[in-house]
Amino acid sequence: MNLFDRLVAWSLPAVPKPIVGMVSKKYIAGETRDDMVRTVRALNDEGARATVDVLGEDTTERAQAEETVVEYERAIEAIVEHDLDCNVSIKLTALGLIIDPSLCRDHVERIVAAAKPHGMFVRFDMEDSSVTTRTLDLVRSVRREHENVGPVLQAYLRRSADDARELLSGPTPNVRLCKGIYREPEEVAFQGREEVRDSYRSLLRTFLESGAYVGIATHDAPLLEHALALVSELGLSGDRYEFQMLLGVIPQVRRELIEAGHGLRVYVPYGKAWYGYSIRRLRENPKIAGYVFKSMFTGS
Ligand SMILES: Cc1cc2nc3c(=O)[nH]c(=O)nc-3n(C[C@H](O)[C@H](O)[C@H](O)COP(=O)(O)OP(=O)(O)OC[C@H]3O[C@@H](n4cnc5c(N)ncnc54)[C@H](O)[C@@H]3O)c2cc1C
Repeated sequence: MNLFDRLVAWSLPAVPKPIVGMVSKKYIAGETRDDMVRTVRALNDEGARATVDVLGEDTTERAQAEETVVEYERAIEAIVEHDLDCNVSIKLTALGLIIDPSLCRDHVERIVAAAKPHGMFVRFDMEDSSVTTRTLDLVRSVRREHENVGPVLQAYLRRSADDARELLSGPTPNVRLCKGIYREPEEVAFQGREEVRDSYRSLLRTFLESGAYVGIATHDAPLLEHALALVSELGLSGDRYEFQMLLGVIPQVRRELIEAGHGLRVYVPYGKAWYGYSIRRLRENPKIAGYVFKSMFTGS
């Protein structure tokens, strides 16, 4: 990202909410469950699987955390009722981690219990490094009783190689591997593009060679090429990995991967709390952030 793009990305919070909403529409299914069902149905028709995220994070109110759990329970019912190829992704801070860890655990148990009878998987999204240890500990603890859960590792974190070793010392993990999206300090996370890619490549090899199921969550062309070469080198079948992409990001590559016979899951966020998620997506894409500013000044 050049200096101008960085400036644009960092000024995003000053942009009026309706304009952010207009531009970020492509990244979000909508505000309602019906919007989610429609989006997932269209993805399934295209040959893609989905994972649904009820938008929300850093919840400080018990009532809001409760609302999020209820919405997940209803989302699971809707996925089953509409026979969708879809699971759910949860964020612990949306489920009350900051309010009370035991409340959060109860909320997680409810969601996992709702998903389990349908053979549905629950992915624990990974948030910023202040909650990495707590998130991994909770996944490990829930995994002792329920097989249908798994974590995310972020390749930019310096600790991830150790976390991978720890994960692999337990029951065979189902892990999503991504680069990581939060701003983290130098001591905690690699900052260079190539350093992060090297870490991603190394973690991917470690997991795939060790028998883990991996959600290869990236849109980065060199990493996708590397992953495809690795899958072929190790002779892996589709029950050992899938590619994962975000709704609204490079859909043509997603279609190419599906056509080539690879499993592909799309991350589908929906709900009223769309603002934080949208700002993170727009920061990743300064070209789009530039359009946001243009529309602010020109009204176009
Ligand atoms: C399914 C999925 C789940 C994720 N879960 C988490 C999580 O739990 N925790 C976490 O910290 N991060 C998560 N992420 C985000 C991830 O960490 C990265 O921030 C994000 O995927 C961008 O990294 P990249 O590997 O795609 O590479 P990049 O180098 O950032 O992107 C590669 C290319 O993809 C395209 N692209 C990327 N982002 C956008 C965008 N917003 N708009 C348009 N084009 C874009 C561009 O063409 C870009 O050149 C997830 C990502 C995916 C795909």
